[in-house]
Amino acid sequence: MRYHLRFVFIILIWLIATPVAAINLVRDADIEHALTELSRPILIAAGLSPAQIKILVLDSSALNAFVVDHRHIFVSSGLILRSKRPSMLQSVIAHEAAHIANGHVTRRSQNMASARNAAAFGIALGIMTGALSGDYAAGGTVALGASNSAQRLFLSHTRAEESAADRAALSYMTRAGIDPRGMSEVLDIFVGQENLSAARQDPYTRTHPLSRDRSRAVTAFAQAQETRQADPKALYWHARATGKLAAFTRKPSQTLKAKQSVTSADIHHMRRAVALSRQGKLDEALLEISKAEKLRPKDAYYKDLKAELLMRHKRFGASAKAYAQAVQLAPQNALIRAGYGRALLANKQDARALSTLKKARSQDFRNLRMLRDLAVAYAKQGQNAMASLVTAERYALQGKIKDAKLHAKRASDRLPTGSPSWQRAQDVLDTLPK
Ligand SMILES: [Zn+2]
Repeated sequence: MRYHLRFVFIILIWLIATPVAAINLVRDADIEHALTELSRPILIAAGLSPAQIKILVLDSSALNAFVVDHRHIFVSSGLILRSKRPSMLQSVIAHEAAHIANGHVTRRSQNMASARNAAAFGIALGIMTGALSGDYAAGGTVALGASNSAQRLFLSHTRAEESAADRAALSYMTRAGIDPRGMSEVLDIFVGQENLSAARQDPYTRTHPLSRDRSRAVTAFAQAQETRQADPKALYWHARATGKLAAFTRKPSQTLKAKQSVTSADIHHMRRAVALSRQGKLDEALLEISKAEKLRPKDAYYKDLKAELLMRHKRFGASAKAYAQAVQLAPQNALIRAGYGRALLANKQDARALSTLKKARSQDFRNLRMLRDLAVAYAKQGQNAMASLVTAERYALQGKIKDAKLHAKRASDRLPTGSPSWQRAQDVLDTLPK
């Protein structure tokens, strides 16, 4: 087994050395909250704990979804945007949840344990990063072959596992009252790709082998069921997640042309705020947010958006104030707290920024921007060893092994041996390949 692990590392190093486009995560508190709401009934039906499993968004227009351990489900922004209704997106989550619940992950990545620290998370994601890059296939078939091997060792499922995951996903959907037709609609998107060359297929079809049989089985099941109306809550959160993603990724003029959303007026105002801010019109954007806030006064995520837009327009003091309100409404949300720390740092409230960012890190380490801010905050307080440690963790998350080890070594040499921070530096050094 160790031999296999080393083999994967060699491939990984090779992949990282190859100029492939990096895949980033879209860490947005609002979108992640919406995905939590959408996935909750499915995870409960699967016997999994919604508090234990995080749905994370990959910044990629390619269609993809995968699991690397028991705690994370990754879905690409491209696939989220392609989902026309909640049941489509929920079916993708249900299928991934089934891979977790059925133990398909454990068998494959036992050596990785779970991605509980920055280095393990970075390695798991790094392998998928090679697989996800849209350009790497154009770079030559060798790269494609290498990443396929890495995937096969880790993440690619067998056809038997795919059928089992489909069956389980359909039962979760039925139990949760979600229309199973959503699943056959998603499979329809991929079935057409079956005959394409590997380079032209979406990465989803490589990690989840598709067959027409699979699609036929799902469609037959779905058609035998009664049509179910989507739950209004699911409609709302789906519209909010897709609406915000689209407002940030598509042309602002396109967003501004859209008619008032039938689902909810607040989402319409939120989308306009994003588009107007991207056009440099902060005052008009703030006016739209205040309209959304009036409709949902206790919504932490609209306060978070206001704070973020103020940050983008360099209104640091006002941003920190808006973030403080958002933190008060959602104290458990690490992304919002990290934003607050960032605004405090920009507003030169250094000590407060450091304590806020430290708390944000303790709530969620998987945030590159927070780790960068935290390193700055530590350095400003003269805590250089700690700055090195979080810098090491940031590089590890990105799969930049050489840089991560350099900084982890530096931190380890300066921190008191045996202290919790020293142990974190050791974790980076021990987890990453020699
Ligand atoms: Zn699958």
